[in-house]
Amino acid sequence: GVPIALHIFFFQAVASPPSSNFLLLGPSGAGKTAFTTLLEAKSSLASNKSHSTHTSQQSTLVTVTLPPTVPTGSNRYRSVNDPSLKEATRNPIRYRVRDTPGHGKLRASQGIAELQAMSQSKDIKTRLRGVVFMVDTAALVDEATLRDTATYLHDVLLFLQKRAKNGSSSKRTTDIPVLVAANKQDLFTALPPGAVREKLEAEIDRIRKSKTKGLLDASADTELEGEEEILGNDEQEAFSFKLLEHEVGVKVDVVGGAVKGDLQEEFGSGVRRWEEWIGMCL
Ligand code: GDP
Repeated sequence: GVPIALHIFFFQAVASPPSSNFLLLGPSGAGKTAFTTLLEAKSSLASNKSHSTHTSQQSTLVTVTLPPTVPTGSNRYRSVNDPSLKEATRNPIRYRVRDTPGHGKLRASQGIAELQAMSQSKDIKTRLRGVVFMVDTAALVDEATLRDTATYLHDVLLFLQKRAKNGSSSKRTTDIPVLVAANKQDLFTALPPGAVREKLEAEIDRIRKSKTKGLLDASADTELEGEEEILGNDEQEAFSFKLLEHEVGVKVDVVGGAVKGDLQEEFGSGVRRWEEWIGMCL
């Protein structure tokens, strides 16, 4: 027979709660609800559990599983030939995704508030591992949508920059990386991920410049209250995600994918590269 300690080990492994949380942000219409619904559907297929349905109006926290073939940061070499794959199939890695409502003017502040709450949590069970910022890559050609999306992303990154700076060197805060999920790549009009990155960087640079200018104007007649931070610190250099990583240590990846579309419906593969990004955070 199997030693009893092993039984206990397996029971605990199965029963242990997921401790990795991801926050899903982005403007409304980007595909956040569709993405969480898809992750849930994929997970319940794997475990024969039914999944709930939800709408864009509520903030939801769902527990989903990582496909066994997706490598994790702590187990990078998990491959199809790896014996640990069997164990991964029997006992899939679970994580949680918090979807934020995407309605009206409140959505950005709600998203930032959620980010604040989750990133400050001392409880390991609610610790934030990463942010997935979803964008509709077919909508970014519209100037107003680009401005709106970049403003939201700017605020998210500035929050993470301040957080990274405030962490004292003795008690280092853990990094919270950001995935810009360039969604709707199935659409004919979608911008490719490289172009999405460039557009967002250029727009954030514009936002940074106008903020700096606003601050200079304000300081001309009134005393400036505390020094306002500039995203990426270096105002001389054009803004880029590389600059942000280099200057502040906040890492941003832009990765294309599609929640909907033919490929997705048949194989669920349009979100694979995002799951791989999530896996590397685990
Ligand atoms: P949310 O406001 O961010 O939660 O966005 P939703 O999940 O409600 O999605 C907005 C719309 O975009 C819905 O009609 C979705 O079916 C659609 N959508 C989401 N992802 C994709 C995608 O990858 N491709 C296409 N073509 N449509 C998508």
